[in-house]
Amino acid sequence: MSTVSIFWHRRDLRIEDNIGLAAARKSGHPVVGFFCFDRHILERLSPLDRRVGFIHHHVTEVRAAYRQDGGELMVRHGHPLPALQAAIKELGEQGLRVVSIYTNRDYAPYPVKRDAEVAAWCGANGVEFQLHEDHVIMPPESVLKDDGTPYTVFTPYSRKWHKVREAMPISPLDSADTLGSGQWAEIPESAAPSLEDMGFDVASGNPEGWAAFDRPLDPHTVRDYAEKRDTPSVVGTTRMSLHLRFGTVSIRQLARFGLQHSDKWLTELIWREFYQAILHHFPHSASDAFRAKYDRIPWRHDEQGFEAWCAGQTGYPLVDAGMRELNATGFMHNRVRMVVASFLCKHLLIDWRWGERYFAEKLLDYELASNVGGWQWASGSGCDAAPYFRVFNPESQMKKFDPKGTYVKRWVPEWGTPGYTAPIVEHKMARQRAIDTYKAALTEA
Ligand SMILES: Cc1cc2nc3c(=O)[nH]c(=O)nc-3n(C[C@H](O)[C@H](O)[C@H](O)COP(=O)(O)OP(=O)(O)OC[C@H]3O[C@@H](n4cnc5c(N)ncnc54)[C@H](O)[C@@H]3O)c2cc1C
Repeated sequence: MSTVSIFWHRRDLRIEDNIGLAAARKSGHPVVGFFCFDRHILERLSPLDRRVGFIHHHVTEVRAAYRQDGGELMVRHGHPLPALQAAIKELGEQGLRVVSIYTNRDYAPYPVKRDAEVAAWCGANGVEFQLHEDHVIMPPESVLKDDGTPYTVFTPYSRKWHKVREAMPISPLDSADTLGSGQWAEIPESAAPSLEDMGFDVASGNPEGWAAFDRPLDPHTVRDYAEKRDTPSVVGTTRMSLHLRFGTVSIRQLARFGLQHSDKWLTELIWREFYQAILHHFPHSASDAFRAKYDRIPWRHDEQGFEAWCAGQTGYPLVDAGMRELNATGFMHNRVRMVVASFLCKHLLIDWRWGERYFAEKLLDYELASNVGGWQWASGSGCDAAPYFRVFNPESQMKKFDPKGTYVKRWVPEWGTPGYTAPIVEHKMARQRAIDTYKAALTEA
């Protein structure tokens, strides 16, 4: 029997500059690619979920790249461990013995548990299991305080991030490490499940569904980032979040670009790593307030208010524009995410978890760590959140960031006409109610 290694793609849908894949190709055993559409994740999604379409589209591209290079990507639909076991059996029937599985590490709670199960099975069955760091520049354990504990405040984290980075330049992988023929196992081509086979509507795979993100990294956007990043009416941010989420771009490529052209933009990439580290070190924060006393806040179970917020019918134009943009495109500008999230937690006093779940359903770039981080920041309960008594005024935010109403008019055409809905809550009252409620809950004995 010949020996082979499996490289298991998850959130790294590319073959270029892929650390785990490069390591697999240096293992000395020919490599077989593997991807599993994970039932555990998919069964909770709507049949129209465009993220599945996006993944399917890119998995198909990765498979074509493997084939062009003389290799094969096995694509399966199921629960990961049984799917891997079945692939190993199938390869065995072709006279190939899998000696190792390589993959890139994911730091969120579910993948950590999944990988521990796979590692345990591999350990018991004589298969080496290797996790590599590809998804961030600094894995959660690389940026710690001098006493070895995790940072919970961004600015010192970021300072340390730079210090560690200076000692460890971010170099691109030699393209020979990831491309080029000769290191693939020669196996017959096998069919991949279609979207319909997995219960998804074929329309979810239409690239128009992710048009908001369908652009390469634009050097001008990065160079002008500091000036334009807070203006929702223009494309002043890079729209890389969806690509980072599924690894269709390499974080090293982006970070090198940021280092050369924009500190401000690089800082956003570091926020992403900060939130990944927070979720890794404090997994409870996925569902509970990072600061426990914030779970004492008596949230209002206002289903009507929540529905109005979801539909973009609050009577606050910037909030409504943001929610309608989200519902239509799966994207929302960061400044507007902050405003709508604050409005839900403070003006409506609705539990941040309701908003977090709604974003999880709608955002194409949904990422547990950044989403929870953003929501806990807005609700005040997060690790480095704004103080609870700072309540965004959605009208002043609009005056500052969309003074001519260009963005608002795009999404709320009836704004300024009698057809536009009246505010569902009065700002002054709502602001005071939030401050009083938070204060009472946080100062309880
Ligand atoms: C309530 C709320 C929820 C959010 N949910 C998510 C989410 O689910 N997924 C997600 O990727 N981002 C989330 N963000 C962060 C941010 O809004 C998006 O990353 C950003 O809008 C994506 O647009 P861009 O790619 O054009 O970003 P750019 O401004 O071009 O930034 C470049 C990259 O840096 C990262 N980044 C930027 N801002 C942040 C931030 N504040 N926190 C963490 N990373 C950041 C992203 O990976 C982004 O692609 C959330 C923010 C808030 C306030």
